[in-house]
Amino acid sequence: MNAPVAHKPPCGGIDLRQEQGQRAVFCGLTGIVWLHRKIQDAFFLVVGSRTCAHLIQSAAGVMIFAEPRFATAIIDERDLAGLADANEELDRVVTRLIERRPDIKLLFLVGSCPSEVIKLDLSRAAQRLSGRLTPVRVLNYSGSGIETTFTQGEDACLAALVPDLPREPVAAAPSLLVVGALADVVEDQFLRMFAAMGIADVRFLPARRAGAMPAVGRGTRYLLAQPFLTDTARALDERGAHRLPAPFPFGAEGTTGWLRAAAEAFGVSEAAFERATAAGRARAETALAPHREKLGGKRVFFFPDSQLEVPLARFLVRELDAELVEVGTPYLHRGHLAAEIELLPSGTRVTEGQSLDDQMDRCRAARPDLTICGLGLANPLEAEGLSTKWSIELLFTPVQGYEQAGDLAELFVRPLRRRALLEV
Ligand code: SF4
Repeated sequence: MNAPVAHKPPCGGIDLRQEQGQRAVFCGLTGIVWLHRKIQDAFFLVVGSRTCAHLIQSAAGVMIFAEPRFATAIIDERDLAGLADANEELDRVVTRLIERRPDIKLLFLVGSCPSEVIKLDLSRAAQRLSGRLTPVRVLNYSGSGIETTFTQGEDACLAALVPDLPREPVAAAPSLLVVGALADVVEDQFLRMFAAMGIADVRFLPARRAGAMPAVGRGTRYLLAQPFLTDTARALDERGAHRLPAPFPFGAEGTTGWLRAAAEAFGVSEAAFERATAAGRARAETALAPHREKLGGKRVFFFPDSQLEVPLARFLVRELDAELVEVGTPYLHRGHLAAEIELLPSGTRVTEGQSLDDQMDRCRAARPDLTICGLGLANPLEAEGLSTKWSIELLFTPVQGYEQAGDLAELFVRPLRRRALLEV
């Protein structure tokens, strides 16, 4: 029997449906793979099972000779049976870790399905340990896979940071905050562009070091760099910060719209905006042209996975002339994605939620030229002769901004090229 499909009220010009059923997603622990590279003196301690440890190690491709900045405190049978005091064990593990690793300035206790099953209160543990281990700050968040998507791990991590951020004095001049983990090279490019526009006070969340986290207050205007930061945005709003509505900085058009939102909020003249952005925009458009030849007219199907689906669909259809068969997304934040939804062609089929079997049936029937999906679906679909792209790669690769627009397009071209070679 098919899962129920609910037609939602009109949302821009898109054909929005909602469905529920079986899902195929990774859990939020995955975010540690890019977050531990970003915050260079943080450590992520997963409190979980051997399964959690395997997931994170295989996702990260751990090198055994490296001093890693993440690990798993294994909850074993004795903990699950309530025979051991899990809090005592955790305190012992954390204390030993901090003694051995004086480079750690910020420790995240990351909750998992098992820690939630045994109701281990990691927020109390974080408070207790923060008191004991000063100056090391201990925070907690959940990376559990129950009813989540893998990018929610970053959202939960950044939301956990917000209450700890320094408070900006009320009378402080407005500052710009870019929210979402970006590759350092991308941050540096954006910093240069904002400086060229005359916006000097630009901060990033997360910062590269625990001691450099940005101050936030009523004068903070923030731009989301990723579309999956719902809880983080809510926490910033509660702090009095103001979100600047914008599309996301994927491709030339998205980057221009994103930068323009900041320019308007900070009173940058049109002439100064043009001067700061024209060269980058031109380079992006030049880089996209050869990819447009390959992706033009190609039919693309998105399975719901990363929550990047709507901005990427907009990029593919508007800048690379692809056609959208279906855009699946785990959650559709109507507010954060409003500018993106406006840019999608009228009638684009957007499916929020997932009923895996039904969506597989629709994908097989449509035989798209390119399917963007999670790791678990890619192999079976490839075996059926479909070209696939792993959506998780879009989180591991620098793809935001003008200079990366060509690389982003290349990620979608590569599977088509590979299949063409296989078919020769
Ligand atoms: S947190 Fe849950 S879903 Fe993620 S690896 Fe651990 S047990 Fe699996």
